[in-house]
Amino acid sequence: MTTELVLLGTAGAPLPVAGRGGISAALVTGGRVFVIDCGRGTPSAFADAGLDFRRLEAVFLTHLHADHTGDLPGLLLYPWGVRTGRSGPVRVYGPPSPGTVPTGDADFHRVTTIHPERPVPGTADLVQAILAGYAYHLNVMPLDAAMPDAGELVRGIDIDLPGTAGDPVVVLDDGAVRVTAVTVTHGHAVPALAYRFDTADGSVVFSGDTTVNDDLIALAQGAGLLVHHVADLGYLERHGLTGAALARQAGLHTDVTQVGGVAERARVRELILTHYLPADPRAVTEQEWAERAGRGFDGIVTAGRDGLRRTVTPNTS
Ligand SMILES: [Zn+2]
Repeated sequence: MTTELVLLGTAGAPLPVAGRGGISAALVTGGRVFVIDCGRGTPSAFADAGLDFRRLEAVFLTHLHADHTGDLPGLLLYPWGVRTGRSGPVRVYGPPSPGTVPTGDADFHRVTTIHPERPVPGTADLVQAILAGYAYHLNVMPLDAAMPDAGELVRGIDIDLPGTAGDPVVVLDDGAVRVTAVTVTHGHAVPALAYRFDTADGSVVFSGDTTVNDDLIALAQGAGLLVHHVADLGYLERHGLTGAALARQAGLHTDVTQVGGVAERARVRELILTHYLPADPRAVTEQEWAERAGRGFDGIVTAGRDGLRRTVTPNTS
């Protein structure tokens, strides 16, 4: 068996930029494909990477901001026609609804609450809404082309998060792959999750979007690869973000000066940077990202880029 990580997109934040796709990664293990987050361009990046849509088994959403979920409809609907027979529904795992919609303050608040009857839909709600919104395609397309049963296309699954925050939750364990989630800290995006994938070949951890978080560091202990998001708050400040707006960003993200310390404490072999903020590749070079992120970390630091691949091996260090 081999296990391989592929970065499908490495941009942070929703605004499209030239030169980077929206946040997404794939983990391919024993021929099974798992996608972690589904930002802008994920279906095309999946094809560009040579991955097989028939082998897409599950999608894991770290949180429900649009930069992590926006191309989920396409990832489900575009390859629908090839998903015949035994591949089964794509499972989409992610955060449940928090139940109540958070309130704002004087600096940041909503004017209109959209869809007040269900203002903070969870993952299963999101998948249901995609099916409802594309019911035309799903109901009409099979009349003109041989399509798999639309009822077997997808299952949305809210991850049950019982107990106290910080307790790891096993999301999937079938003997070959074990996926464990933990809640992380990403401003008002509650719940937000990080995921650890354990296979016979080794372990990979995806931070999702978070500030420096002890529970993530515990989750990542001894993993071979830590795929961690990164922000350059100093860059944002130099480009006009100040006061409450800058403080909000600091409550959402791990700064480039902090991420090396996270990797060191987690004792991972390699730190792979992704979900860059700023996302524009011309704003901060890969060399700068890697050099600054590596301070305080004894392992390997790699500035991720779209299409980057890593064979997963055990962490023997
Ligand atoms: Zn994000």
